[in-house]
Order: sequence, then C-alpha cells, then structure tokens
Amino acid sequence: MRTKKEIVIVGGGIIGLSTAHFALTHGWDVTIVDRIAPDGDNCSKGNSGMIVPSHFVPLAAPGVMGHAIRWMRDPESPFSLNPSLDLEMLKWGLRFYLASTKAQVDQAAPLLRDLNLASREWFIKWSEDGIDGGLAKKGLLMLCATKDTLEEEARLAQQARDLGIPAEVLSPRDIEILDPNVTLEVQGGVYYPKDCHLVPGKLIASLRSHLESRGATFRWNTHITGWNCRGSNIVSLKTTGGEIAGDEFVLCGGVWTESLSRDLRLKLPMLAGKGYSLTLPMPIERPAVCSILCEARVAVTPMEDQLRFGGTMTLGKPNSVIAPEKIQGIIKGIARYMPRFKPQHFEGVEPWVGLRPVTPDGLPYIGRTNRWNNLTVATGHAMMGLSLGPITGQLAAQIIAGEKTTIPIGQLSPDRYAS
Ligand SMILES: Cc1cc2nc3c(=O)[nH]c(=O)nc-3n(C[C@H](O)[C@H](O)[C@H](O)COP(=O)(O)OP(=O)(O)OC[C@H]3O[C@@H](n4cnc5c(N)ncnc54)[C@H](O)[C@@H]3O)c2cc1C
Repeated sequence: MRTKKEIVIVGGGIIGLSTAHFALTHGWDVTIVDRIAPDGDNCSKGNSGMIVPSHFVPLAAPGVMGHAIRWMRDPESPFSLNPSLDLEMLKWGLRFYLASTKAQVDQAAPLLRDLNLASREWFIKWSEDGIDGGLAKKGLLMLCATKDTLEEEARLAQQARDLGIPAEVLSPRDIEILDPNVTLEVQGGVYYPKDCHLVPGKLIASLRSHLESRGATFRWNTHITGWNCRGSNIVSLKTTGGEIAGDEFVLCGGVWTESLSRDLRLKLPMLAGKGYSLTLPMPIERPAVCSILCEARVAVTPMEDQLRFGGTMTLGKPNSVIAPEKIQGIIKGIARYMPRFKPQHFEGVEPWVGLRPVTPDGLPYIGRTNRWNNLTVATGHAMMGLSLGPITGQLAAQIIAGEKTTIPIGQLSPDRYAS
C-alpha cells in the first residue's frame, strides 16, 4: 500500500526544480515531467543569472506602456509589443494597462521585496549545501549614461531604502573604485549590495543532480498533452510517454502554462516576453559586479571566465524566432557604456533566446485554484523567475502541505483573472 504522497511537477525549469526540492524535503515522492531532453534548453538556462532584491517594481508600472508604444517605431529598441488582433492578446494588453498604476506598484513592492530577500537566503543556503551555481554575493550596479536617468534611479534608490533595501547612489569615481576591472562611460549609478549573481545553467545542472540523488524521478522527452480528471480532482497527466498519476499536481510550465492548462478551464493569461543573451567566452574586460545598463536595458553578468549580456523584451505569442535587429540593439547599447567592447567582439557569438512568462500585472501566479482540489500553480515570474525560484518552491510545498505560507501571497492568486 502507498503511504507517501505522490507529487507530479509539470515543467523542469527553475520553478519546477525548486518545487521538487522542497517537496522532497517534505518526504513526498516526486516526479518531474518535461518535454525537453535532460540537457535541453528552457528559459531558466541562458538567462542573466541575477538575484534581485533591487527589483521591487513589477513590469506593469506607470509609464511602461508609453515607452513600449514609443519604442515600437525603433526595430532595435529594448522593449516592444508584437501587435496582434488576437482577442486574448488585446485583453492581456488592456489588463496590463489597467494594472500599471502607482497603487498597484505600492502594493506589490513590499511583497516582491520579501519574496526576493527570502529567495536570496535560500540561494545562500543551497550553495552551502553543495547546490553549486557559482553564487557571487557582490551586489548589482544600475549604470546610467545620462543625468536624467541617474536622477530617476536615485529616486528609486530612495524608495528602496524606504522599503529597507540598501541602495547607494555612486559617482563615476565611486564605481571605478568598486569595480576597477571595467572601463565605463557613465554619469553614475546606484549600487544594491544585497543583489547577487550566478551561472544559471550550472545551477540548474547542480540542482537536477541533487534532486536525482535524493530520489526524484525525471520524465524527460515527455510531452504533456492533457489531463485526466474526476470531479474536482486531477487523476493523471496524459503524455506522449503514457499516463502519469499522482496525488498532487504542480503547474510550472513557464510561458506554455496557458496552453497547458486550457483543458483544465483555468484562466491564466500569459504572454511571452522574448529576450536574448550573448555570452563572450573570453571578454576583453571582466567586471566583478553584475550591472544593468539602464537606458539600454541590458544586463551584464560575469559568469566565471565568461561575460553574459542579456536584454530586450518583445511581448507576444510564444515563438523563438531571432530578430537580428534586436541583437544589434543590444550590441550598440553595450558600446555606449563599455567603450572597450566593440561589435567585432560579438562576431560568431550565437544568441540564446528565452521566453519569459509574463502575466498582465507582472506578478507570478502562485497558489491553489477554486476549480481543482489537488492542483497548485507556480508560474508567470517574468523577469524574476530565477531570482524567485527557491521561495516559489518553498511556497508551493507549503500550499500542498496545507500549511500557512511563510509570506502571505493572496495577491498572487491564480484565480485573479478567473471572472
Ligand atoms: C534574456 C533573459 C534574461 C533573464 N534574466 C533573468 C535574471 O537575471 N534573473 C531572473 O530572476 N530571471 C531572469 N530571466 C527570467 C527567467 O529566466 C524566467 O522567469 C524563468 O526562467 C522562468 O522559469 P520557469 O521554470 O517558469 O519556466 P521555464 O524555464 O521555461 O520552464 C518551463 C518548462 O516547462 C516545459 N513544458 C512546457 N510545456 C510543456 C509540455 N506540454 N509538456 C512537457 N513540458 C512542457 C518546458 O519544456 C520548460 O522546460 C531572464 C529571462 C530572459 C529571457
């Protein structure tokens, strides 16, 4: 007779793997199902690897829609919308617009702070326990090429301090002292000492082998095609590898969550926020501290000997087609701040493309739904999925166990667009 609860996790990205980690800690049997091969690619692999208590403002914020519309005229811009007459996309856009208010940002900021800080603690614990992603606790620099942006970032730094997140406005000289390894042309910046960075592919590989050694079952190359349900309970997954039964199911399908859950009659609106990264194996300079080039919206992350540049957000239906003009936009943006990096340094560098799962209010879906007794949703983390991975896994396991969550997450209900 079976005594242990069987947890089936849909999706083996950072959210699914983190959930598996905490489910194993509860003593449950865990199966992770993913259509990719063990070394396959997903959004969790080639991202910028930043752990970001500094990111307390959700994507849906005042001014973002205006920027997106203005930028639509520039094919190299860092943010754009792939317009479509698709009704679901129009509804997503309207919801995003309605969520982009100061009131919503003020409400979301303390929650994002708490989630990011709690996750940071988990990353530190994981690295002490041998889950090795090359964690570097060196902070993050927001680098500004113009005085106007520096003023704007200084205002955000004040908001961060008001929330209890340390933030320091730095002159170009201060930045040079903090990170002498890199030549910069900037007006100044803001330093967030609590932020960290790591190598996401290394973390994923290490977490996976850790889970395997603790007894998790992986079903790779297994495409989920539907669900078998009885009343308000899910009984099993329909997959290309046969049915997979369980007591509890956790939906961590990233940008594909909406299509994955359609049969379940859930409303989890989601768009893909397409982005790219370019990794230089032997960079001409290698900063010690990770940074965001503010106006260009490019993230710069030292990853052991390599240097990764990540950027752009094109919102639309999921597709992984690479737009060369966006890659050009990233490369031109870099040269404005880091003059020693020239376009020829990027010749032959294969761009990585990733699809961020973006909800209309920029906040993840984490929780139970009213419709299903044994389903937990954990997805939609947009630009912060890596950063929020461990805390999301912990919360999902607490929900399954029927425990009070350590952070109140009513705001993240997956039913918030149900009506
Ligand atoms: C350029 C770029 C830079 C970024 N930088 C950062 C950063 O610095 N810090 C940060 O916190 N975040 C960053 N992000 C965001 C972060 O990468 C994502 O939020 C995160 O990876 C999402 O993880 P996930 O587990 O939800 O989704 P995924 O990693 O996409 O995993 C979902 C999994 O579900 C599987 N799946 C889907 N459908 C099916 C099906 N039908 N059957 C079986 N399996 C299925 C997929 O194969 C996939 O493996 C960045 C993203 C991009 C694009």
